[in-house]
Amino acid sequence: MAVPAWRERGVEPVAWFHNPNIQPAAEVERRLESMLRFSREAGLGLVVEERPSEAAAWREWVAALAAATPDERCATCLGLRLRAAAAAAARLGMPRFSTALSVSPYQRHDLILAAGQAAADEHGVTFAYLDLRDVFRRSYSESRRLDLYRQAYCGCVASKWEAWHARTLRKRAG
Ligand code: SF4
Repeated sequence: MAVPAWRERGVEPVAWFHNPNIQPAAEVERRLESMLRFSREAGLGLVVEERPSEAAAWREWVAALAAATPDERCATCLGLRLRAAAAAAARLGMPRFSTALSVSPYQRHDLILAAGQAAADEHGVTFAYLDLRDVFRRSYSESRRLDLYRQAYCGCVASKWEAWHARTLRKRAG
């Protein structure tokens, strides 16, 4: 729902797909396939960033995982991704960039904002933050209507384990 939200504000967005921290590779394929289908459906321009070699992706991820706490891990991860987004915006001649992460109520929005602003300063572009948590449910319904893949965890192996652990506890609680 990030796309209609920007269009309602008179902005025609161009989507950019990149995340070196999605694991395993099959999960990247599922999310990318949905993104390609959604962009066709919505008449949306889409740029797919070439995936870094597995070795490079792994080095980036290990740097994020080495952080001491989950919050530090996520701050490092968001920094990696939003710096890449800012660099892509500058390279593509776009003065502003944003992120669909802002639809998620599960993300730390203070971390998104800090990482986005730092990335923007580094690359001479503007970070256009829009809090879209209020459209999360609508976004979920729309993805069901279009039969798009719905991710069950944020992206990294640690988040996959955390999601599995939370589901297990909920089941046990009955
Ligand atoms: S949980 Fe999400 S934001 Fe945090 S490190 Fe993993 S992929 Fe990155």
